[in-house]
Amino acid sequence: MRVRVDPDRCEGNLRCQNAAPEVFEVRDDLSHVLLDDVPEALRHKVERAIRLCPRQAIDWLRA
Ligand code: SF4
Repeated sequence: MRVRVDPDRCEGNLRCQNAAPEVFEVRDDLSHVLLDDVPEALRHKVERAIRLCPRQAIDWLRA
């Protein structure tokens, strides 16, 4: 599974990094996705990050 962050929406408030530090890293006020492929074991953390993002900047990339 792939996830992306919309750089036009992200405001760098760290909520995704706090929810899923294995997947998101905020640098220069922008969240970066660290993994090309999110393993199943981390899916629930990413779902949590999606829920917590106040800017709706995170979404799964559908194949
Ligand atoms: S929670 Fe959303 S707005 Fe905040 S850093 Fe992550 S992607 Fe950006």
